[in-house]
Amino acid sequence: MARALDPNQLQEAASIINKARRVVAFTGAGISVPSGIPDFRSPGGLWTKFDPFEVASAHALENNPRKVWEFMLATVDLLGRSQPNPAHIALAELEKNSRMTGIITQNIDNLHQRAGSSLVVEYHGNFQRFYCRGCFRECSEHEVMAECSRSIPVWCPSCGSLVRPDVVFFGEAIPSMAHQQSMELIQAADVLIVVGTSGEVAPANVFPRQVKLSGGKIIEVNLGPTHYADITDVRFNAPAEDVLPQLADLVFGHS
Ligand code: ZN
Repeated sequence: MARALDPNQLQEAASIINKARRVVAFTGAGISVPSGIPDFRSPGGLWTKFDPFEVASAHALENNPRKVWEFMLATVDLLGRSQPNPAHIALAELEKNSRMTGIITQNIDNLHQRAGSSLVVEYHGNFQRFYCRGCFRECSEHEVMAECSRSIPVWCPSCGSLVRPDVVFFGEAIPSMAHQQSMELIQAADVLIVVGTSGEVAPANVFPRQVKLSGGKIIEVNLGPTHYADITDVRFNAPAEDVLPQLADLVFGHS
């Protein structure tokens, strides 16, 4: 049962969305917590079990690929057991009804796509895609998992180099395509819905400020304090899986 939200706030946010030409969502770990994926950095998250430098860095790929693969298998298992929640589904509905231009996500869990969103920029990559770091050949998840059942790490069948997930590891740059697509969405946005991201992780944390500086509005759906308090037009300090379905209903005129 969803808790009661301030109806005036919901109305104000719906009105902002309905007046906008280009609405973009910017999402982070918080939106996937109710799907069973704890924020990597929170208690119970993967960074309490693995040291990121040892398992998810350029250094680790070079020096200890087996550890990288042990971490990847744990992550693939965690993500494989998760399901999109009502917050992901509400954003997909907004897109289907032409009320949203796209999503920029910092998550690597594929849940926006599984909920039905198609315009998703994966700023940090996707843990269900893999490629060879030698010849850049793409390897399907099916192919990789079959190989994993025999041994890890996985080596490229074409050139013998290490196969890795298509995610941004610590110390690696954001892929230029993802950055370019994000900038196009941000520069055109007149509303940004910030969901489940408190603004700690650079460089993506500057997006809300860029939208605000160019005259756009910020709707924030975040639990607890964030770095966006000074720029937010409407802020819901409530779970995204409660807020977004109710907001989408109002936008569609269902309430
Ligand atoms: Zn290769």
